[in-house]
Amino acid sequence: MHSSLEETLLGSIRTIPDYPKPGVQFRDITTLLGNARAFRRAVDELVHPYAGTKVEQVAGIEARGFILGGAVAHQLSAGFVPIRKKGKLPHHTVRIAYSLEYGIDEMEMHEDAVKPGQTVILVDDLLATGGTAEAAIKLLRQMGAEVVAACFVIDLPDLGGRAKLEGMDVTVRTLVSYE
Ligand code: AMP
Repeated sequence: MHSSLEETLLGSIRTIPDYPKPGVQFRDITTLLGNARAFRRAVDELVHPYAGTKVEQVAGIEARGFILGGAVAHQLSAGFVPIRKKGKLPHHTVRIAYSLEYGIDEMEMHEDAVKPGQTVILVDDLLATGGTAEAAIKLLRQMGAEVVAACFVIDLPDLGGRAKLEGMDVTVRTLVSYE
C-alpha cells in the first residue's frame, strides 16, 4: 500500500517541544531530509506545478530553504539564489530589515543575483507569520524579480502567513499543515 503524500511527510517530520524556547513546537525537517522517500516526494511536490513553466531562478532562505530550494532549482533547470543572514555574502548586497518575535534581524542577497524581469519562486521549509518570506519577496522585487510563488513544506495556518503573502499578490503553496 502506498501512503499518501501527507502521511509520508507528516510521518517523517519530527516535533521538538519547547525548542528553541518554551511554548514553541519546533517542526524539525532534518528527519524528512534524511528519509530518501520523503525528501524526494517533498521536492517532487514542490516542483510539480512549475514543471514546464518558465521559472528562471529559485530563491532559498538560509538555511533549510537552501537544501530544499537547491533540489527544486536542479529539477527545474533553474538557477539558485541564496538569501542569507547579514554579513555572509562576499560581494555587493542589498539588505532588508524584518521583525522577529523579539527584535529585528536583517537578510541580504547579492545585488546581481537576479536580473530585472526574471521569474522567481521562493522556497523555505516552513511558513509561520510570513515575516521572513515577506522580507525575502520585498528584496527580490526590489531587484526587479517577478516573484511568481512562495513554496513551503509546512504551513502553520494559525499564524497567518498565507494571508500576509497573498496580500502581496504572491501565490502560496504549502504541502502539509499543523493546526
Ligand atoms: P515566519 O517568518 O514567522 O513565517 O517564520 C518562518 C521562519 O522561521 C522559517 O525560516 C522557519 O524555518 C522558522 N520557523 C518558525 N517557526 C518554526 C517552527 N515552529 N518550527 C520550525 N521552524 C520554524
